[in-house]
Amino acid sequence: MVSRVIPVDPFDLVIFGGTGDLARRKILPALFRRFCAGQWPSDVQIVGAARRTLDDTGFRSLVSDALKEHAPKHARDRVAVEGFLSRLRYVPVEAEGPQGWEELAGLLGQNRVRAFYFSVAPRLFGPLAERIEAFGMATEKTRIVVEKPFGHDLDSARSLNATLAAHFDENQIYRIDHYLGKETVQNLMAVRFGNMLFEPLWNSQYVDHIQITVAETVGVDGRESYYDRAGAMRDMMQNHLMQLLCLIAMEPPAKFDPDAVRDEKLKVIRALDPVLPHHIVRGQFVAAEGLPGYREVVGNPRSTTESYVALRAHISNWRWAGTPFYLRTGKRLVARSSVINVMFKDAPHSIFGEDAGRHANVLSIRLQPNEGITLKVTIKEPGQGGMRLVDVPLDMSFAEALGPENQVSPDAYERLIMDVVRGNQTLFMRGDEVEAAWAWTDPIIAGWQSRGDVPKPYDCGSTGPGDAELLMKRDGRRWQGIKP
Ligand code: NAD
Repeated sequence: MVSRVIPVDPFDLVIFGGTGDLARRKILPALFRRFCAGQWPSDVQIVGAARRTLDDTGFRSLVSDALKEHAPKHARDRVAVEGFLSRLRYVPVEAEGPQGWEELAGLLGQNRVRAFYFSVAPRLFGPLAERIEAFGMATEKTRIVVEKPFGHDLDSARSLNATLAAHFDENQIYRIDHYLGKETVQNLMAVRFGNMLFEPLWNSQYVDHIQITVAETVGVDGRESYYDRAGAMRDMMQNHLMQLLCLIAMEPPAKFDPDAVRDEKLKVIRALDPVLPHHIVRGQFVAAEGLPGYREVVGNPRSTTESYVALRAHISNWRWAGTPFYLRTGKRLVARSSVINVMFKDAPHSIFGEDAGRHANVLSIRLQPNEGITLKVTIKEPGQGGMRLVDVPLDMSFAEALGPENQVSPDAYERLIMDVVRGNQTLFMRGDEVEAAWAWTDPIIAGWQSRGDVPKPYDCGSTGPGDAELLMKRDGRRWQGIKP
């Protein structure tokens, strides 16, 4: 089976911050791979716009280096690289001043999609939106893409939403959460709503609890000052894990359409109970396995910022009352692994007697690495006298199941940027969703601040602080292992 490429109409894409780290590592390589996939008509134009004084040739040379480093396989095709570079233009632009804007406006085509990617510090989002409008570049076909972080708390998110709304309609604003662009995250919806098998069991009557783990082996290198002000709660929990929680817990939308999906996600966030202080564990990594501790890395010996957080959440609605959701995320953990485990209840009665052993079904949805789904089912232990039960995995690795042509699924940024061009907001966060997520997160962070909470230390290369194990143990449960 070969994946289909659906062609898009001509477009102009302006990358504010086109010389920055995110543009070089993610946005431009993603665009290049879509170009190689043959998805574009011949007159697409990509414009880098940033502070640096460069001309088209200088920008093309910077992008050529970025492609070699971040899209090495495709970059071996010299014809493709030349073809892509020829679509690139560059304009030095000052986000907070008048320089460059007239020239930028002059470059854009008429009557076609214009996407402006804000890959710059969030304080520049307002000035950029204002100038796009002031210099006559805002048309009905204009869209803006804003990167995370979207605010620091509820107040700042509200004010950012209001600033953007002064220049653009909500249907022109694309708030990126790259987790939503991951193939398996979209598969979550396909598995739930494309099969008859799971949905009847998808509720508190059959599901004991759900675990969502996003474990990283990386630290905070290169982002020290941002991260020390943010921490795991703001950097990961408020956005990525909340989005996963929404997709796993939401009611079936009537159709796969942006507002139908986002309405259902919003209802989940609004149904979340406040988290009790003893249902949350914060951690901070300390030196181990030759790696430095968090405080050394950020150069702040008294930092109380968490690099790990685990919590137990409750959704107060008809479907989920009584089924806890355990969420955890952290840096410098033992393995890189993002997985959702749906832990079903035990069978109500064992006809084989207690000696046979009791096993519950687990549906594991692996987001990275090795995307796929495993269903743990119980069978008879082979060759034994009597009846003893064991678990076996029904394992489906998507790459294996879908064949070699699909071993490399599009990167999240490829999918999301093409959705912007197509005008499909389903996989982007709506303003009210982001605000609701902050409204749930803010009191948790305020509680830590008022109590002077200090995160629990955990070793680099471990599974996180021991208290996170206790959080589960107190409820008679345990985390599934963090496996690469
Ligand atoms: P960066 O510092 O590497 O690049 C910033 C870019 O903004 C540069 O091109 C610079 O020229 C431009 N710029 C700065 N001030 C300007 C001004 N006054 N006028 C015009 N251009 C200006 O930053 P980055 O790491 O690429 O991050 C960009 C955005 O993406 C930030 O909002 C960041 O939070 C977000 N983000 C980055 C990553 C990442 O992995 N780098 C991941 C997620 C989100």
